[in-house]
Amino acid sequence: MNEPTLKETDPEVYRTIEAELKRERQSLVMIASENYASRAVIEAQANVMTNKYAEGYPGARYYGGCEFVDRVEQLARSRANRLFNSEHANVQPHSGSQANMAVYLSLLKNGDTIMGMDLSHGGHLTHGSPVSFSGKIYNPVFYGLHPETQRIDYDQLRDHAKKHKPKIIVAGASAYPRRIDFSLFKEIAREVGAYFMVDMAHIAGLVATGLHPSPVGQADCVTSTTHKTLRGPRGGLILCSEEYGARLDKSVFPGVQGGPLMHIIAAKAVAFEEALRPEFVDYQKQVLINARVLAEELVGYGFDLVSGGTDNHLLLIDLTAKGITGLDAEQSLGEAGIVANKNAVPFDKKGPKITSGLRLGTPALTTRGIKEAEIRQIARLINDILGAPANENVLRRVQGVVSEICKAFPIYPYLDASE
Ligand SMILES: *Cc1c(COP(=O)(O)O)cnc(C)c1O
Repeated sequence: MNEPTLKETDPEVYRTIEAELKRERQSLVMIASENYASRAVIEAQANVMTNKYAEGYPGARYYGGCEFVDRVEQLARSRANRLFNSEHANVQPHSGSQANMAVYLSLLKNGDTIMGMDLSHGGHLTHGSPVSFSGKIYNPVFYGLHPETQRIDYDQLRDHAKKHKPKIIVAGASAYPRRIDFSLFKEIAREVGAYFMVDMAHIAGLVATGLHPSPVGQADCVTSTTHKTLRGPRGGLILCSEEYGARLDKSVFPGVQGGPLMHIIAAKAVAFEEALRPEFVDYQKQVLINARVLAEELVGYGFDLVSGGTDNHLLLIDLTAKGITGLDAEQSLGEAGIVANKNAVPFDKKGPKITSGLRLGTPALTTRGIKEAEIRQIARLINDILGAPANENVLRRVQGVVSEICKAFPIYPYLDASE
């Protein structure tokens, strides 16, 4: 069979992929949930395993011909358990949202009360937002940040938990720059007889390397994505004790999914192995250093940071005092080649399409090899742009510096990016 390549057979799609590669190369990605997967991870998800139907689990499938996908899923599961010190891993969730859905399905009944972090305080849609299945099927109540410290208000959490008696308490966030006290969460969950789930989607890479306290052993179930700080393929993951394993597996399949994406599971196995290496610890340490330096520099330029700084890979700027909206900041930085996202800040008066905040993260920059010196340079560029968002001269100068930094820290040099 002499088949044409993608480039030959579908130049229209091929060109969009080429353009995306070019965009990723030529911009400074500061979206806290993004990263650059390794060559090995990308290779492992672009192959014939996409062809295989494998409903079920290794050794118990509904289809024949599963001997090799069984082996790769087994590798992924055992590596995940080794990485996180867990007893049971389900590597099939197609995404973080589906991992959360599966946990709820296995522990809750429709209409049960779930308690999560307020979306506008840094929580995730799947933690009870009314626009998500989680807020439609279940009865959501929320905890949030303390107005002064801008850290999780654990007293409010305990009060709300006692008052609403949730069936499950969910810890974990998408825009929270501080360490989360999982043992205090566990204590409160026990006090009110609630299940305790941790969604570590953002911080999984830090947890894997011991740079954030682990929720494994504290929470009944731990969910994650594999593509954020963990730097694997786009996908989800669930960890739990043996006690919940069988129930949870049934919730993923046949509960919320059909056939697993075996090519993605192969790539998850590769990513977990990469994360077990000593270099991955060095990488995560640098992610933290870069975030801390970025925070210090921005504070030096007079920016307000939610909670005053960061303990992890991200920070949240409250732009209110600077007189610029999150949307305008995102757009101005984007024109300069710095990609970030607008984000609500606690008690935000603007809607989610405008917002008063900007979320910045260091995982992707750090994967490129960027360290403190360039972070200081980038902080200055951000200050230049946000201080003069409509100034063409500033914009052109910043574009020039961004382009130099990107050239000095190339990504995917072996990939073809011509034509
Ligand atoms: C990113 C994220 C998710 C969802 O991940 P998807 O793969 O986009 O569905 C869930 N929870 C938290 C806390 C997240 O940050």
